[in-house]
Amino acid sequence: MPAQQSHLQPAVLQNSVVVFSKNYLPLARINIKRAIVLLVTGQAESLELGNPTTWEVRSPSMVLQVSEHIRLTGGNPERLWKVPPVNRREVLRRDNHTCQYCGSTKHLTIDHVIPRSRGGSHTWDNVVTACERCNSLKGNQLPHDANMIPRTKPKAPAHPAVAFAEQFWKAQQTREEG
Ligand SMILES: [Zn+2]
Repeated sequence: MPAQQSHLQPAVLQNSVVVFSKNYLPLARINIKRAIVLLVTGQAESLELGNPTTWEVRSPSMVLQVSEHIRLTGGNPERLWKVPPVNRREVLRRDNHTCQYCGSTKHLTIDHVIPRSRGGSHTWDNVVTACERCNSLKGNQLPHDANMIPRTKPKAPAHPAVAFAEQFWKAQQTREEG
C-alpha cells in the first residue's frame, strides 16, 4: 500500500455521507463511520447518484469503497414518523420559537387563529406561536377583526426527511450552478 494512502485514513473518517431511503429520498447526513457500519452489515448499498465522491476505507482485513451517497436496502424509515401532537412544545418548534404576529421570541404561548370560543379547532392549521402580548391583544377576535394575520399560514410540520430532502436538493443545485 502506498504510504500516501495510509496517512489519508484519518482524514477520510472526517467525511459525511448522505443516506437515502429505499425509495431514494435523502434522509439525513451521517458520519462516514456510521455509513461504513451500514454498508458492512448489508443494511445499505452505495448509490451512484450525481457522480458522488467515493472514498476508499481500509482496515487490516478489508478495503471498502464508500460512496458519498448510500441507500438503505430495507425498511421504510419515513413511514415510522407520525405527525406530532398539537402541543406547546411542538407548535413552538414548528414556528421556530417566534411569535407569528410580531416576531418576538419571548413569553411565547399558543394562539388559536380562529378562537376556540368562535368554533376554532385545536389542530395544526389553527394554532400558531404568539407572545403573551399579541395573544392578549388579539383576545377573542377573529384575525381580520383584530387585524392580526399570522406571518406564515399554519400547517402540520413537514416530515423531517422531507425537510432534509428540500435542503439537500437545493444544495445540489447550488453545487452544480457554482
Ligand atoms: Zn407577538
